[in-house]
Amino acid sequence: MSGPLKLTGFWLACLGLGLGAGWLWPQPAARLTFLSVGQGDCAVFQEAGATILVDVGPANPHIDAGARIVVPRLLAQGAGRVDLVFLTHPDGDHIGGLRSVLRTFPGARVAVSAAFRHSGKMRSYLAAAGVSERDVLWLISTRARVGAFQMTVDCPPVGPWDPDNDGSLFIRLSNQSSSAVLTGDASEKAEWAEAALSSWRSDVMKVGHHGSRTSSSEEWIAAVHPRVAVISCGSGNLFGHPHAAVLARLAQAGVEVHRTDLEGDLSFVATPGGFRLASR
Ligand SMILES: [Zn+2]
Repeated sequence: MSGPLKLTGFWLACLGLGLGAGWLWPQPAARLTFLSVGQGDCAVFQEAGATILVDVGPANPHIDAGARIVVPRLLAQGAGRVDLVFLTHPDGDHIGGLRSVLRTFPGARVAVSAAFRHSGKMRSYLAAAGVSERDVLWLISTRARVGAFQMTVDCPPVGPWDPDNDGSLFIRLSNQSSSAVLTGDASEKAEWAEAALSSWRSDVMKVGHHGSRTSSSEEWIAAVHPRVAVISCGSGNLFGHPHAAVLARLAQAGVEVHRTDLEGDLSFVATPGGFRLASR
């Protein structure tokens, strides 16, 4: 893992609230939900009173998943606020919904890899959502606690000729029994680099790039060694996601696969036996 520990005042305040609440009354079990946002990504992590999003779903001329799906689901789950929004990389199927999410949850802080600080695409999405550059948490590789969970965030470097996908944040959430890893749209090239840096072993693996054949290599699946894989993709999408080769690799590794296009929202609850699927 590269880079120093970096905790901002916001992190300390946010996490302190979550930890403090746990002393006063029992907290519900941590929950990780992959919302069915069509061809895109949005995951919601709720622990110790904190609500953290990893991506916010797509927005395009046909649908604003932020307004139509993410906000209504959050409100239905009783989320009174969103504390933090990670934007994995500057693609519309991941961050297009930002404006609508922030319109309802204006107190949410936005966290972006510092590798995208000068990305014109990222800047335009932030500007469209009314987020000024100085209000963004520009991340270097970071570890922080959220309630009983450790959150590890790594920020792969992005060279001038590298695709934005390979700068996707690598995020691992873990307590003593449950763990999950999310990698945006990173390709196998980024997976190889990250696997060499740190342990990403996890119960639950969000399959990279919606099940594209250029992600989820055999080596990465072996490194994560997941029990369950989640594929977030749109029904009948034009990209052919998930690719048959990826499904074959997961089957070969004995991994249980769940798909948002076939099953809708996928919600996992932390238990002493690891993350367990709570509802479909
Ligand atoms: Zn994507």
